[in-house]
Amino acid sequence: MKTKKPDYTIATLGSHSALQILKGARDEGFKSILIGQKGKTRTYRSFGLGDTIIELDSFSDITGIEDVLVNENAIMIPHGSLFNAVSLDSLKDFKVMYYGNKNILPWEENRTKQRQWLKKAGLTLPKIYEKPEDINGPAIIKFFGAGGGKGYFLASNTDEFNLKIAPFSDREYIIQEYEVGAPLYVHYFYSSLTGELEIMSMDKRYETNVDSIGRITAKDQLDLNLESSYNIMGNLPLVVRESMLNELFDMGDRVIEASKKLEPSGLIGPFCLEIIVTPELEFYVFEISARIVAGTNPYINGSPYSDLHYNEPMSTGRRVAREIKNAIGQDRLSEILVNGK
Ligand code: AMP
Repeated sequence: MKTKKPDYTIATLGSHSALQILKGARDEGFKSILIGQKGKTRTYRSFGLGDTIIELDSFSDITGIEDVLVNENAIMIPHGSLFNAVSLDSLKDFKVMYYGNKNILPWEENRTKQRQWLKKAGLTLPKIYEKPEDINGPAIIKFFGAGGGKGYFLASNTDEFNLKIAPFSDREYIIQEYEVGAPLYVHYFYSSLTGELEIMSMDKRYETNVDSIGRITAKDQLDLNLESSYNIMGNLPLVVRESMLNELFDMGDRVIEASKKLEPSGLIGPFCLEIIVTPELEFYVFEISARIVAGTNPYINGSPYSDLHYNEPMSTGRRVAREIKNAIGQDRLSEILVNGK
């Protein structure tokens, strides 16, 4: 397909999944802007990424360079670090072109709304204990806001919960049933231009210390009085049994369908379903990320699934740039930059 030469630039914050976003932009013929934090841009310089590098004291200062980005015709690719740095309210007023649908973000940010969305999609979710007194089995306590699993804790009864929640009395949380099974993170891409859903890749997280306490004996675990924690430090590549793929595609389709009922433009582009697979091979979806996730990082050069689809290296970051290029070529850019009400 013939596309106009893009005079847009692709901008992103220097963290999270910026390497693949910047390389993807370059592979698709875009110039890029890397917005980094002072003293933390060496990674990007070292890999030769980011045609322009802007350094800020803190990511939250990004609102102060709005005009610079607008002048550069920059399209901002959001990722987890952006949502950590800027509130949804300030993001709503941010004048820079934004890839994706801003109206869907509140449905991801608020765990109660997120649950409504996933239920609407007919997915199986872990049970919620409405109040601490209801806990009658293994439960995981999660705080609101993206934090990479930091501070989560487990409790199996109300007394244990009360003891462990004490230091966090000012935080909002939910209490979910803890599902015993294998974690699976499925990275999807939904093209609103073609209506097609793709599975780009999958990962499992490498979390400390839950992924390492099995290296010492149960006796040592007890002697050391260990608590499990879920602080993510990396991601490992994964493929699933081929017979599981059909259901994973169906689940992704239903998430997209449901998103269109929540917000007319629905979810656009990359998203991730976070799943626990039980020994009965049931899929319990415990969370959705409505954006590119860092679990796609092992696949800068593509995954087994993206290779089947594209037969060329296709990371999720590059897929985003390709979508923008296609939209520009078809004069449909406004359909994938839904910038709020
Ligand atoms: P999250 O921040 O929601 O992605 O969760 C962080 C980690 O906690 C996940 O990678 C899982 O290992 C674990 N986890 C979260 N929710 C559950 C659940 N309901 N049952 C079992 N493990 C969970």
